[in-house]
Amino acid sequence: MLLTVHATVGAIIGDNVSTPLLAFVLAFISHFILDIFPHGDEELVKAYRNDFKNKGMIYLIFFDIIATLILLPVLFYSQKINFNITVIWGIIGGVIPDIFVGLYEITHKYFRRTYKFHNFTHNKLGKFFGTKTNLSLPLKFGLLIQIILIYLILF
Ligand SMILES: [Zn+2]
Repeated sequence: MLLTVHATVGAIIGDNVSTPLLAFVLAFISHFILDIFPHGDEELVKAYRNDFKNKGMIYLIFFDIIATLILLPVLFYSQKINFNITVIWGIIGGVIPDIFVGLYEITHKYFRRTYKFHNFTHNKLGKFFGTKTNLSLPLKFGLLIQIILIYLILF
């Protein structure tokens, strides 16, 4: 799922709990729960694993980071979410699983457990419905759902 969604949910969690540690832990857990739902990047991930020259995933991550870096300051500036250390730890907890996954993809050494668990959560819903492969949504549809999701959790 988009970092934009994970960071926003992490920030909201941080805004509603009392300690940075609690914010981090709950946001970290929220990442895996959100990732259970199919979110449209399944085909891009597969394409990237088959051919590392496939740039689709890189573009998506790039735009995702830019969107996050625009959205969060807007939320703080408009005082939709408070800006404090607890919120920052919520954001970190929300996005860090994907950073661990990226580090494992690069090193094939560190954060192997997080990587496996992350894959497990992604496959869970597909298994639940008895399909062999992951449930996958078209990217546009997945992105649209996530943009609507961000809107719904904020307004
Ligand atoms: Zn993830």
